[in-house]
Amino acid sequence: MTTDIEATVGLRTPIRHQLFIDGQFVGALSGETQPTLNPHDNSVIAHVAMAGRADVDLAVAAAQRAFPAWSRMPAAERGRILLKLADLIEANAEELARLESLDTGHPLRDSRMLDVPRTAACYRYFGGMADKFQGETIPVEAGFLNYTLREPVGVVGQVVPWNFPLMFTSWKMAPALAAGNTIVMKPAEITPLSSLKIAELMAQAGMPAGVVNILPGLGSVAGQYIAEHPGIAKIAFTGSTATGKRVVQASAGNLKKVQLELGGKGANIVFEDANLAAAVNGAAWAIFHNQGQACIAGSRLMLHEKIADAFLEKFIPLAQSIRLGNPMDETTEMGPLTSALHQQRVLAYVDVARSEGGELLAGGKPPAAADLAKGCYVEPTIVRASSWQDRVAQEEVFGPFVTVLTFKDDAQALQIANGTDYGLGSGLWTANLQRAHRFARDLQVGMVWINSYKRVNPGSPFGGVGQSGYGREMGFDAMREYTQVKSVWVNVDAQIAPHYPR
Ligand code: NAP
Ligand code: MG
Repeated sequence: MTTDIEATVGLRTPIRHQLFIDGQFVGALSGETQPTLNPHDNSVIAHVAMAGRADVDLAVAAAQRAFPAWSRMPAAERGRILLKLADLIEANAEELARLESLDTGHPLRDSRMLDVPRTAACYRYFGGMADKFQGETIPVEAGFLNYTLREPVGVVGQVVPWNFPLMFTSWKMAPALAAGNTIVMKPAEITPLSSLKIAELMAQAGMPAGVVNILPGLGSVAGQYIAEHPGIAKIAFTGSTATGKRVVQASAGNLKKVQLELGGKGANIVFEDANLAAAVNGAAWAIFHNQGQACIAGSRLMLHEKIADAFLEKFIPLAQSIRLGNPMDETTEMGPLTSALHQQRVLAYVDVARSEGGELLAGGKPPAAADLAKGCYVEPTIVRASSWQDRVAQEEVFGPFVTVLTFKDDAQALQIANGTDYGLGSGLWTANLQRAHRFARDLQVGMVWINSYKRVNPGSPFGGVGQSGYGREMGFDAMREYTQVKSVWVNVDAQIAPHYPR
């Protein structure tokens, strides 16, 4: 039965709000729930079950039971289920887009154009990958055959943040499943709804019970216990650097494999020879898409001093023209931040900027419009920092907040770009081919975009270096992350001299 909320936002199917364990939607053993809110007006969408440690134990046990059959199922069969899921995601695209926009504040236009298609593409890519990822035969000494088996790790724990819940769960679950692992996944407590819908579609696609278990819950409780759990062989985590470090510590008990996608402070470098119109538009997308709540956001806008004024003359009015509004409105270009707490955190950085002598060039406050007053909105904000070492040029704000820095030559650009503890993604805009590839080589990051920004594709490795974490999602690298290699030695026809001749 759908309720008023579902009817209001155009959902045809009931919102799922329970834990998904062993193929069933169930309440938390403790009976605990927590409201999930619509960040447009902070109204309650649903009361969602919150997993405790006992629920995690049940989920791990279910995933352990499901593992032998799932891991030994022919890879092509596993792939077929993922391909079916991709089709079901497309068949339910509008439902998923609306649910994601409702829970996160993503403009519906983005959920439709990006989040949902990218999610389907990810399951489809890894569905196709399942039976194409293979071991190797290694040339070794005479008389021996040596080959490798790529084996799934076992039960994997996955912990996901709130900024792209639908997409990020696909980036984690698709390769893990293709490789034959079973899963205990915790979405962010404030955005659990789309992953529960995916659980429903997975069941429809024929995923056996227990293979995927989805547990909304608190990071400090369910997340921490997943990281500690002795029955979990690997943890894949996306979130803040501080929490990532806690996950590493918690994982030590049973020496889990760990994969971390953490924060970033992306440099977006515009050289004096760049196509200015393209760079202005690309830079706005780089920071303002998803309200800046992206680990790869181009949050440090680095301008060559010769073109800085001309660039800002176009960039500031463009930022100010972005249409803020209810995410469910099809014309909205920027929605609210995903929570009131986060809105406050982002706005606090405006005071940090002022205290450091930064110049506020645009935004820096919630919009004046009365219909947005109850929501978590922040205007597109542009700050010119007094130094690249300022907090606003070093710390991840994770909002529609861009810090402008200028540089005088390539050497200084590189020094500033690499002058952060993070190393996730960076972009550069130039017509000079040599410079473009030199920077691609010299930037200390996991991803570089040349004359573009923020491109992602299921085939292209995604991840960072330094305090941005380790391991890669997507592509063949993701399959390596979710498997362990076993080396098998066979004596084919070797006559081995006895070690202990008697
Ligand atoms: P967060 O606080 O680190 O939370 C991420 C997830 O970890 C949430 O599900 C959270 O649960 C859970 N968690 C919290 N404490 C935990 C613990 N002790 N043990 C295990 N799990 C725990 O990050 P966030 O503020 O939600 O997300 C924003 C951050 O994610 C940013 O720093 C951003 O850069 C980063 N990010 C990185 C990437 C990437 O690919 N590199 C992508 C997107 C975002 P709760 O929901 O209960 O807090
Ligand atoms: Mg919400």
